[in-house]
Amino acid sequence: MKIIHNKNDLPKIENLAFVPTMGNLHDGHLSLIKTAKKYSQNVIVSIFVNPAQFAPNEDFATYPRTLNEDISLLQTVLTENDILYIPTIEDIYPYPSKIWFDIPHLTNCLCGKSRPHFFNGVITVLLKFILQISPTFLILGEKDYQQFLVTSEMVKSIGFQTKVIPSPIIRNQNGLALSSRNTYLKNLTQAELINKILFEEVWNIKNSKKTDLLYSQTKLSSFCEIDYLEIRHNQTLELFAEGKNVEDFRLFFAGRFENVRLIDNIPLIQL
Ligand code: AMP
Repeated sequence: MKIIHNKNDLPKIENLAFVPTMGNLHDGHLSLIKTAKKYSQNVIVSIFVNPAQFAPNEDFATYPRTLNEDISLLQTVLTENDILYIPTIEDIYPYPSKIWFDIPHLTNCLCGKSRPHFFNGVITVLLKFILQISPTFLILGEKDYQQFLVTSEMVKSIGFQTKVIPSPIIRNQNGLALSSRNTYLKNLTQAELINKILFEEVWNIKNSKKTDLLYSQTKLSSFCEIDYLEIRHNQTLELFAEGKNVEDFRLFFAGRFENVRLIDNIPLIQL
């Protein structure tokens, strides 16, 4: 793989599949690369911890940065046609960005509500990456499902030709969605209770058709601080209402456990 540190060195390659990351790579990121390989012979992975998506009180400074390990890992999956792009801050923010992006019908809820700066930061950085790289495919994980929907809408709204491709959530053997922030966790076993409860709730919805989420609300709030726990539509993010087809919806969760923010989502089609 070729490592590029400067946007001016990016080659003009047709049919690129682009996998943006913030590094500290794990099997979730590698699965996105596998998905990318299905779409193109030429994959470009970026590693860039994007300051614009962190609020001042969040973990930008301490976010795990493991560049040497990431490069070694990528060498095992990327081939000579592929590129690792590690831009500098000046490549992405040559001027302090003062524009504010918002897609209110998708960003006013879930993560956008508790982290109002977050999607502006994500849209800003992905827009800049798309302008620099002109990828044919942009591969995003369903782990950050709202981010996938918001980005798809941004790409369509601006009129980019890039196709946004979702890639399924990768979990550890006990069902916990892999995340770079999991490295902060001390009691992994208790954190894994969260996804266990979420899957049990999805099972309850299947069996009893009860969608009040009382079961998971009660269980989760006994050991973690729930930010949101909601059933929302998998395209529009509207809240579930009686009479709607449950299979078009997902259970979305975010919460703090050991002061680490964890998110997850489960499609109700898996019933
Ligand atoms: P991050 O490095 O956390 O910004 O994530 C980069 C990309 O990897 C995003 O598209 C995430 O949705 C995706 N991703 C992170 N964790 C997982 C996971 N466990 N399964 C699938 N995709 C993931």
